[in-house]
Amino acid sequence: MKAQVFRGVNQLSYEEVPVPELGADEVLVQVRVVGLCQSDIKKICYPLYEPPRIYGHETAGEIAAVGENVTGWQVGQRVVVMHHIPCMRCKYCLNDNFSMCEVYKQITTTAGFTPSGGGFAEYVKVPGHIVRNGGLIAIPDPVSFEQASFVEPTNCCLKAVKKLQVAPGQTILITGAGPIGLMFIMLVRYFGGRAIATDLLPSRIEKAQAVGAEAAFDARDPDLPSKIFSITEGMGVDATLLAVPSDKAFFQALDCTRKGGKILFFAEFPEQAEIPINPNILYRRELDLMGSYSSSYRLQSLATDIVFNQRIDVNSLISDRYPLQNLAAAVAQAIKPTPDTYKILLYPGQRN
Ligand SMILES: [Zn+2]
Ligand SMILES: [Zn+2]
Repeated sequence: MKAQVFRGVNQLSYEEVPVPELGADEVLVQVRVVGLCQSDIKKICYPLYEPPRIYGHETAGEIAAVGENVTGWQVGQRVVVMHHIPCMRCKYCLNDNFSMCEVYKQITTTAGFTPSGGGFAEYVKVPGHIVRNGGLIAIPDPVSFEQASFVEPTNCCLKAVKKLQVAPGQTILITGAGPIGLMFIMLVRYFGGRAIATDLLPSRIEKAQAVGAEAAFDARDPDLPSKIFSITEGMGVDATLLAVPSDKAFFQALDCTRKGGKILFFAEFPEQAEIPINPNILYRRELDLMGSYSSSYRLQSLATDIVFNQRIDVNSLISDRYPLQNLAAAVAQAIKPTPDTYKILLYPGQRN
């Protein structure tokens, strides 16, 4: 089969690799659509993990083979593949911090080499513990593979929005209106909140409003805080979601978030980043700083419901479709987005 093998920093090789061999409790999925995630881009562009590897984890496809001991799944079924599942027994899992679980951190779906997701290939193997513990999700007939590939990124965004306890009447500032920021806007609206967005690209500022932001501003606007205060009765927003790794955005968040509000780090910063802050700002204004990384096992059925039942319009986030062969071009476009670049999807086989 063909796969995009990570052979070193910025070295993707589209090559022939063996179809993974199946154990008795494993399932082989033919990948139909795989989303390109910011985390894939980081793993390709920085020396984070030893090559060779096959990345890709926002995977939707069709079951091509099942091991002899697998029950409940058949060849031909359409599925979303989760690339990791928590143990549900450790201290982290018992406190709903699933993404800190050591079992969860071990990615086990694979298309060959050290298991790393495996979605950037024609076939991916799903290990027994994922098959048995809810890591395969059946896709209902009316839902396309494209739509289904959004379950994982939706869960990640949903987890952050849930951490902020977004509720009707609240106003949330979202810094960055790329594919993630736009999804945040939709989810904030879904929970009854008002969304305000910022970005540097005029096209994204427009798109933010098109998907439901009540207002969207240029992030460089020196009057940003006063504009935000004027639409929040002089209070500032209830919470800010940082969807860009920018210290400027963080300081804007401090300026624009109300007393007693929350600021959530969603985007991962460069390794050497440091942000100096006077702790009294947090103390006197009772601001909560929080982080949210990856998805939540507990939110899986809600994320699935939101995507499958079109409670948010994920299809409107898709801007580009590439054959898997052109992954390097897709990565280059995501790094230097054209005005109309949002979510990029990849197709290992024929598109449909
Ligand atoms: Zn992802
Ligand atoms: Zn655990």
